[in-house]
Amino acid sequence: MLQKYKRLWSKKSLKSSYDAVIIGGGVHGLATAYYLAKNHGMHNIAVLEKKYLGFGSSGRNTAIVRANQRTSENVCLYQEGLKLWPELTSELDFNLMFFNCGNLNLAHSESAISALRLQVTTAQFHGMKTKLIDAKECKEMIPALDISDRLRYPIFGAMYHPPGGTVRHDALVWGLAKGASQLGVHIHQKTEATGIGIEKERIAYVQTNKGKIFTPRVLNVAGPYSTLIAAMIDLRLPIHALTIQAMVTEPLKPVLNYVVSSGAYHCYANQSLKGEIVSGSHMDPWPNYTTQTTAHYIKHQAEALTELMPCLKGVKLMRAWGGLADMTPDMAPIIDGNDPIQGFFQNCGWGYFGFKSAPVTGKYMAQFMATDQCPSILKPFTMRRYENHNLMGEIATPVYYNPWN
Ligand SMILES: Cc1cc2nc3c(=O)[nH]c(=O)nc-3n(C[C@H](O)[C@H](O)[C@H](O)COP(=O)(O)OP(=O)(O)OC[C@H]3O[C@@H](n4cnc5c(N)ncnc54)[C@H](O)[C@@H]3O)c2cc1C
Repeated sequence: MLQKYKRLWSKKSLKSSYDAVIIGGGVHGLATAYYLAKNHGMHNIAVLEKKYLGFGSSGRNTAIVRANQRTSENVCLYQEGLKLWPELTSELDFNLMFFNCGNLNLAHSESAISALRLQVTTAQFHGMKTKLIDAKECKEMIPALDISDRLRYPIFGAMYHPPGGTVRHDALVWGLAKGASQLGVHIHQKTEATGIGIEKERIAYVQTNKGKIFTPRVLNVAGPYSTLIAAMIDLRLPIHALTIQAMVTEPLKPVLNYVVSSGAYHCYANQSLKGEIVSGSHMDPWPNYTTQTTAHYIKHQAEALTELMPCLKGVKLMRAWGGLADMTPDMAPIIDGNDPIQGFFQNCGWGYFGFKSAPVTGKYMAQFMATDQCPSILKPFTMRRYENHNLMGEIATPVYYNPWN
């Protein structure tokens, strides 16, 4: 028998004070709120969302999870993040649909193979199953792949990363909102932070479109809008907003059992549990805040997909959408707190990596906010790395869209 529909999170009146105010109702904000309440007994917390939960990239991403980053600092965080999916599914009592299908990053030149070798070595150093495979092995795993030399960029091999896969993105938003709300967190949709008040060099209050909230702690998790939140306390963040576009095809019989990505083709894809081929690309190369899609991108994506997997020729695209990526110059996030203002915390600049990392970062960010001690796993992501010339090296060269180049 069908159960009566129950709201996942409850609607509460906005109070005039909270122990912490979280600005941004995406996966990072909700995860931090959940862990503040669950692990640190802080229940008097507000999550402010100017539109609706998941309005930002949390509700628009392609939901790929993996831990085969380039730098050890990132790998440690993402590796722990991967382990959390089954645990979270059970403790939230909400199916996050973790599908551990594994990831294949294709290489189309000898130099790309060398670059992957570094990533494979780092992953193996951290005890993760990851290896280089040749083009023939790629074909055995994905028979639909064209490994001939007819391709513009023939496939030389790939990095195979078995621990990765996909998680349902809106399930994570809803599951965390449910978990946080059950622990007493107040979730306020259509509530926009419009200003932040400081007294004696400490956070004093947050001004919203619905009134003033007194609080000693603020977390800036506003994704691409985090620069605007930081500007409220006269802080400039090295973050640019760029659009990423994605699309899905009509549902097909199983044809793609792995997440497959290609840097040379600027294309990645996986087959959803419904059978649709979900595909995304690199970012639009100019900063902007729109989430529109473009014919240019759809054409590019269709060409790339059908060149890599010719059997997809003629398959219909069902829909396309855009979301924003908050990009830093070294493609690693800014995670910081109590600097330069006591009580001001930040977790932003995730670019196109912020879905997979949300629960684990939320867990450690909550620890940071509750204890005022930055956990060592988060220390490398300090904002001061930019002024100390200590960038993370997640990419070998500065990102090309960087307007300072
Ligand atoms: C097309 C696409 C594909 C992607 N694919 C992947 C992927 O496969 N794997 C992966 O790991 N990552 C992926 N990402 C990146 C990932 O989605 C983001 O990094 C992640 O969702 C960021 O979450 P967040 O909570 O930090 O920010 P968001 O989800 O952007 O949430 C920020 C929220 O803050 C709110 N807000 C802003 N200003 C205010 C204000 N003044 N007051 C109140 N609220 C405010 C916004 O409305 C928004 O809802 C992708 C992104 C896109 C766009």
